[in-house]
Amino acid sequence: MNLIQELSKSFSKEKLIIDDEQKAPFECDGLSAYRETPLAVVLPTTHEEIKTALAICRKHKAPVITRGSGTGLAGGALPLHNGVVLGLSKMNRILKVDPLARTAVLEPGVRNVVVSQTVAPYGLYYAPDPSSQVACSIGGNVAENSGGVHCLKYGLTVHNVLSITIINMEGETIVFDEKDDGVDLLALLNGSEGLLGIIVEIKVKLLPKPDTAQLVMAGFKSISACADAVTSVLEQGIIPAGLEMMDKFSIKAAEEYAKVGYPLEAEALLLCEVDGSFDQVAEDTQRISDILIGSGASSIQVSNSEAERIALWQGRKNAFPAVGRFSPDYYCMDGTIPRKRLAYVLQEIRKLSDKYQLEVANVFHAGDGNLHPLILYDANIPGQLHETEKFGAEILKLCLEVGGTITGEHGVGIEKLDSMCHQFADPELEIFHAIKQVFDETGLMNPGKAIPTLHRCAEVGQMHVHNNQLPFPHLERF
Ligand SMILES: Cc1cc2nc3c(=O)[nH]c(=O)nc-3n(C[C@H](O)[C@H](O)[C@H](O)COP(=O)(O)OP(=O)(O)OC[C@H]3O[C@@H](n4cnc5c(N)ncnc54)[C@H](O)[C@@H]3O)c2cc1C
Repeated sequence: MNLIQELSKSFSKEKLIIDDEQKAPFECDGLSAYRETPLAVVLPTTHEEIKTALAICRKHKAPVITRGSGTGLAGGALPLHNGVVLGLSKMNRILKVDPLARTAVLEPGVRNVVVSQTVAPYGLYYAPDPSSQVACSIGGNVAENSGGVHCLKYGLTVHNVLSITIINMEGETIVFDEKDDGVDLLALLNGSEGLLGIIVEIKVKLLPKPDTAQLVMAGFKSISACADAVTSVLEQGIIPAGLEMMDKFSIKAAEEYAKVGYPLEAEALLLCEVDGSFDQVAEDTQRISDILIGSGASSIQVSNSEAERIALWQGRKNAFPAVGRFSPDYYCMDGTIPRKRLAYVLQEIRKLSDKYQLEVANVFHAGDGNLHPLILYDANIPGQLHETEKFGAEILKLCLEVGGTITGEHGVGIEKLDSMCHQFADPELEIFHAIKQVFDETGLMNPGKAIPTLHRCAEVGQMHVHNNQLPFPHLERF
């Protein structure tokens, strides 16, 4: 029996997709420039079904690509033509809510926003809130260690997860818990990009909803004044719940889309949210307003109601699709830099935009130094995707030059394999490979993602010459 025949024997028609047309929605994730039709898509609803699918894939040496909601922006869930996509969207039950312990136990396919909605009657919420939260899954959030506008104060996914259960490629169930002694393997699973195991259960930390929150929105006449204002707020010891920045292009796009009253004349916009007790919020709001005015803000608006606060966020939260309306395609980059280099990096991105003749909109989690340049391009123009990728890679190199990293929250996937060669030296990459080997001896779990081979790094020119001996001497040099 071949792989498809065996899968067909074990899975009903609702749980197995082998028809080409029905497989189409699974051909890509949020990095839609890359597509591949998988051999089959399996949609399990139980741990046993996952184990069955894995056993069949092991037997036929078929790669397994785990997929949550497919909103990932680095191609982490991109299928392989000889692989099986394991889609976990049907495993979407909230298994337990413990309001006293402030925890919830979730299946991996639960959508992020559903967690906070479900626990709201207890006065609780789940802090990490990626802008994709209406769609993205908790399993995907853990696999990408996702952030969001509130992670400056409340941390990334890794800081809000208490326990993770995985099923490894051998079909074994393993639990990683914050109470475990020894090496912090729980942290290792966060950001593991589907390479180490299938995350099947997650226990998350819930937080009490703050009494109130207020948003201060400030427009600036220059990017550098806005960037300096970010530093000034943080230097005063205030940790906002969110500190987001947008450039002129993004402000215009978001305003046209959401119509929330963003200052169109501003070169840069800062959205600064504080939350907590009524007294604390009132005090912080006043201090922040004073700091922003002192930093040269050309306009200031403080949200007057919860409805107004939420409305003002709508522009920022919809900034990606809003920018996307100006171009047939856009490419969303993700890199991190030290906050004090914000103005310099944005200036250099502008130069790169002129060099490549491609428009770029900048939206970023300014408090964390996490940039999201959106490069606008048209995939129908021959060669433009390639130019866009080169532009993106130069932005990531720029991030490294100023002491930053090649990803903030979107992961590496297939997108940043070459950039990994720039960030990490061979010994570090060898450690990554060794970790993968420990979890996945067969190498069938999401192969070719997140960790570049040393071969690949030699090809992109990041090699280290030891004792006058070039590594991979058999490879052609470009
Ligand atoms: C409009 C938009 C806005 C976004 N905003 C943000 C943002 O603010 N912050 C942010 O961090 N990200 C953001 N993202 C990126 C994306 O939503 C996140 O990376 C999200 O966590 C992906 O979740 P998913 O369920 O869609 O995962 P998928 O795209 O399905 O998968 C992502 C990766 O996780 C692996 N994976 C998924 N589920 C599992 C599992 N159960 N076990 C093991 N591996 C698994 C996959 O193999 C893949 O490598 C945004 C994306 C879009 C489209």
